[in-house]
Amino acid sequence: MTLTKPYKLAIIGVGKIARDQHLPSISDNPDFTLEAAVSRNANVDGIDNFASLADLLDNRPDIPIVSLCMPPTARFQIAWDALSAGKHVLLEKPPGATLSEVHSLISLAEKNGLTLYATWHSRHAIAVAPAKKWLSTRQIKSLKIIWKEDVRRWHPNQPWIWQAGNAGVFDPGINALSILTEIMPHAIHLTSADLEFPANSETPIAAKLQFFDPYGGDISAEFDWRHEGHQTWDITIETNDGTLQLSEGGAKMYRDGQLELEGHDGEYAAIYAHFSNLLSAQKSDVDLAPLRHVADAFMLGRRHVTDAFFD
Ligand code: NAP
Repeated sequence: MTLTKPYKLAIIGVGKIARDQHLPSISDNPDFTLEAAVSRNANVDGIDNFASLADLLDNRPDIPIVSLCMPPTARFQIAWDALSAGKHVLLEKPPGATLSEVHSLISLAEKNGLTLYATWHSRHAIAVAPAKKWLSTRQIKSLKIIWKEDVRRWHPNQPWIWQAGNAGVFDPGINALSILTEIMPHAIHLTSADLEFPANSETPIAAKLQFFDPYGGDISAEFDWRHEGHQTWDITIETNDGTLQLSEGGAKMYRDGQLELEGHDGEYAAIYAHFSNLLSAQKSDVDLAPLRHVADAFMLGRRHVTDAFFD
């Protein structure tokens, strides 16, 4: 199907991120028009609503693009079916529950000549591109990620986060890894991990990671979901030429303690701008580096069982 602007799009999975970010960002982007939603529970006003992808395909074959906003374990089959039906697909992060399933999607998109876009919203935070540029000419002595938040505050009524395949604390932690893998001037790999699993959970509530850096940097990350009070999403980088800190998930950048940049909006606007470019260029964008580090953490990680956690 030849694509013409504005691109007709359907959203699948109408939960928090769909309502907070996708719906407004699509509506603000003149390259797209939201035509339909697929949801088991919700309705979006003013557009067609369907209970399943099959119903969407039967009733609105003219819609060539879908954005998938459900949790990773619920996503693969719908992505597979959408690509099989000739639809271009946007994936929320993390792009899948496993690396292999995303490789299958990449192959199918290539075979069918379709755009597949694995989004990493944190990479569009205001500080990420300037940090990447600044680091490209400096030597990293250490890089420390501290991602500590209160799961009860940010993930209420989301039982899926505790189910195997949906990554637990790596659900926010992978945002930090997506920034890390974007700003690092060279590849690194995980060497050790300690994962804390509540006695009643299939996924970890906290993780400590250590990486090998071929240039000798001390690279580490700490994720914790039991953190009340001040919420921390910081990356602090000591270099041969001063200290860079990205805080609030990349919404602020400090150099040697001085605030240089600040801005909280625009991540999802940038996602849909990039998606439009990919569709026009008939290209895909699927970078699995952040998910690879998570997979390695599950392979290498020492498992520690902690107190049961109730949210
Ligand atoms: P959510 O509020 O729980 O919504 C997920 C939606 O997915 C549900 O409302 C449901 O929509 C649909 N769904 C389909 N199958 C499901 C299943 N088996 N279990 C649960 N939901 C299912 O979650 P969310 O916060 O929007 O997160 C969804 C994805 O977006 C995750 O991968 C997350 O990492 C990513 N994300 C979230 C945020 C955030 O701030 N919340 C930020 C960035 C990215 P229907 O009832 O419409 O079928």
